[in-house]
Amino acid sequence: MVANHGRRGFLRIAGGAALATPWFWTRNAGARAARVVVIGGGAGGAILARTLARSGAGLDITLIEPKTRYTTCFFSNRYITGLQDFNSITHGYDRLAGNHGVRVLHQAATGIDPDARTVRLSGGETIGWDRLVVAPGIDFRWDAIEGYGPQAAEIMPHAWRAGAQSQLLRAQLEAMEDGGTFLIAPPENPYRCPSGPYERVSLVAHYFKQAKPKSKILILDAKSEFPLQAQFEEGWANHYADMIEVIPADFSGGPRAVDPSTMTVMSEDDDFKAAVANIIPPQIAGKIARDAGLADDSGWCPINHESLESAIIPGIHVIGDAAIVSPMPKAGYTANIQAKICARAIILALIGKAVDPPVTSGACWSHITPDNAVREYAEYEFVDGVVVRTILDISLTGEDDNLRAATAGAADRWYRDITHEMFG
Ligand SMILES: Cc1cc2nc3c(=O)[nH]c(=O)nc-3n(C[C@H](O)[C@H](O)[C@H](O)COP(=O)(O)OP(=O)(O)OC[C@H]3O[C@@H](n4cnc5c(N)ncnc54)[C@H](O)[C@@H]3O)c2cc1C
Repeated sequence: MVANHGRRGFLRIAGGAALATPWFWTRNAGARAARVVVIGGGAGGAILARTLARSGAGLDITLIEPKTRYTTCFFSNRYITGLQDFNSITHGYDRLAGNHGVRVLHQAATGIDPDARTVRLSGGETIGWDRLVVAPGIDFRWDAIEGYGPQAAEIMPHAWRAGAQSQLLRAQLEAMEDGGTFLIAPPENPYRCPSGPYERVSLVAHYFKQAKPKSKILILDAKSEFPLQAQFEEGWANHYADMIEVIPADFSGGPRAVDPSTMTVMSEDDDFKAAVANIIPPQIAGKIARDAGLADDSGWCPINHESLESAIIPGIHVIGDAAIVSPMPKAGYTANIQAKICARAIILALIGKAVDPPVTSGACWSHITPDNAVREYAEYEFVDGVVVRTILDISLTGEDDNLRAATAGAADRWYRDITHEMFG
């Protein structure tokens, strides 16, 4: 157990006091450091914990995350298609604990009591918090595609939470015979990483071109349009001519049902046979957030944009994919932005100051080939308490190979930076 007790500037809360806001500075003997508990050690939760720990505010920070090693979804498409090994996208929490004094508990949070301000852990223990941050990422709507549940996902992987599912999809692609069909079924909006399915298509096509050139890719989409469509379609025509077919939802109605025993995916009127089927179901906020009553009817969690504090339960913040922060996409880079806004809001709340979110920016990269990537850069401001995207700068079609290679290089640097910000 590692508590973060700096020598001065502690953000403390009186030991026996009721845990109500407003927060206050005190150095009273017997007072204790304010406790921030973070559920979920992914892009949002890990960066939030590390940012608070490095703030010098002397908070007592606990991160609850069941996994001892976290595999990033970002760059998992590169792993799935043989461009990287599994270890290169898998990270431990040792430095977060050892270098930054975050107490990391490798358990799942199984319940939240907002009145008692406690979290129950899978080991049976209950821990208290003064501020709680919930960052559990996504769950799947298993009832959305007939026949597609956790068991079917062992035959038709989603690979949309990285780890064993990514390993399964890679193994299936490697085992597939040349001439087979890889079917991918991207979900309806909103979902984690809007351009991710189309980057996956690109890198699977790259793999097929090298290893299984007679193979085909079928995109049975639940949408009629997809992000960066012009850039992807141009890239597919240039690099993977005749390999990829898109079937948009306005043509097929999208994927409706699956039969894993015959490797068939059904739309309204057609049946599609696949050698490898990658079904990405529609998504909702992680279970712990929904169980705690933090989600609305959409299945996602409404929040105050400026503080990421829940619009439903005060004192609890929700960040990352689980939160509704439109127009920010559900992405690692926006989870990073939100973690920093939330850390700042928590510290300001602790010293009794109003939230003051900064202008902020970030970018998301998608590979068309290993050396050719496109980028979406966005800047965000807060207007009347609401986040607004003020700049959206997207790679153009027709860019030359050198620029695309430089963009791919920037993606590598982004990966190094964000994993450093997550794991120290
Ligand atoms: C194929 C793919 C490619 C992607 N590429 C990019 C990219 O290039 N750039 C980009 O910006 N984004 C990318 N993303 C999106 C990015 O991975 C997610 O948006 C990001 O991980 C969201 O962060 P998060 O913290 O909300 O969730 P996660 O990173 O999923 O973290 C949630 C954590 O919470 C834990 N958890 C869940 N429930 C509990 C509980 N009850 N108790 C304790 N812990 C719990 C989980 O174990 C998990 O570790 C990609 C996603 C995919 C699928």
